[in-house]
Amino acid sequence: MNKAIIITGPSGAGKNTIADYLIGKFSFLNYSISATTRQPREGEVDKVDYYFITVPDFKTKIEKDEFIEWEMVYTDMFYGTLKSEINRIWAAGKAIVFVVDVIGAKDLKQYFGDSALSVFIKPPSLTELRQRIMKRRTEHIDALEERMRRAKVEIKMADVFDKILVNDDLDTVFGEADDLIADFFNKKIK
Ligand code: 5GP
Repeated sequence: MNKAIIITGPSGAGKNTIADYLIGKFSFLNYSISATTRQPREGEVDKVDYYFITVPDFKTKIEKDEFIEWEMVYTDMFYGTLKSEINRIWAAGKAIVFVVDVIGAKDLKQYFGDSALSVFIKPPSLTELRQRIMKRRTEHIDALEERMRRAKVEIKMADVFDKILVNDDLDTVFGEADDLIADFFNKKIK
């Protein structure tokens, strides 16, 4: 099948919720596990949620050209898509789901071209986004402000992606995501 779905948007917009929903529903989709240098949050598991690695390890992988794309998304926090993930997932006959920041998403879309559908998840408003990040309680207040600053820039880039989904009501957005998958994979799913 050799196809990919790229899910992007600001932190807290609901990218992972939507990706989890799609992967739970469609067994032909498989999550690309990114590498990161940030600390695991409570409940996150190494090699499931991310490959949690050190900054020196991350830099070695950059030197060895092991990433399709990588980004310092926040101060001293690196995130990247490993080439080995693509081989792993396509070799298993599955389609890949990437959940990445907007710059990574643009790079991936350029790399995969028409084989990938890029989807921007937009929060209903910045006020709502702030509430969601605060509710998640995973970030320090400084990190929250950095995420909000970045979100404003990211939202301005929404139009460069193939599709935009506004994540206001979850059931609605799940239905819209189903329709995108049906279209892109030419499948009947309802
Ligand atoms: P978080 O720390 O909330 O898990 O992720 C922070 C941001 O980094 C999110 O926007 C997330 O989608 C993005 N991200 C996760 N993995 C990657 C990756 O492999 N590449 C890029 N460019 N961004 C990523």
